[in-house]
Amino acid sequence: MSDCLFCSIVAGDIPADKVAETDEVLVFRDIDPKAPSHLLAIPKEHYVNVAELSEADADLAGRLLATLTSVSEISGNTEGYRVVFNTGQLGGQTVDHVHAHLLAGRQMTWPPG
Ligand code: AMP
Ligand code: ZN
Repeated sequence: MSDCLFCSIVAGDIPADKVAETDEVLVFRDIDPKAPSHLLAIPKEHYVNVAELSEADADLAGRLLATLTSVSEISGNTEGYRVVFNTGQLGGQTVDHVHAHLLAGRQMTWPPG
């Protein structure tokens, strides 16, 4: 989608700090980190949210999570981390291209705000 921020990152039109990439998934650092380690994992193909992605291609949804958790600063991280899919307006989603947040490196609070 031409007017989608994350599609523009996939296309290379907007730079990103990439930490992992496959032919179908990209993992990059969030530009405004909410934790010492804050990564975003996206499918290169455009899906609006996790419901649309998992309905269209459940295997790709699984590979998205596998790629995210294989990142070296996370894999084997016994301290713990949090994976979040903000979805829709009440869910706090501001970019309508599905993305998993991976937050690590500090104590997470519950419930989230
Ligand atoms: P959400 O609010 O769940 O839709 O998350 C969108 C995330 O994208 C936010 O955490 C932003 O900080 C992040 N973000 C926005 N623009 C960029 C960018 N150009 N590069 C990396 N992360 C971005
Ligand atoms: Zn997109």
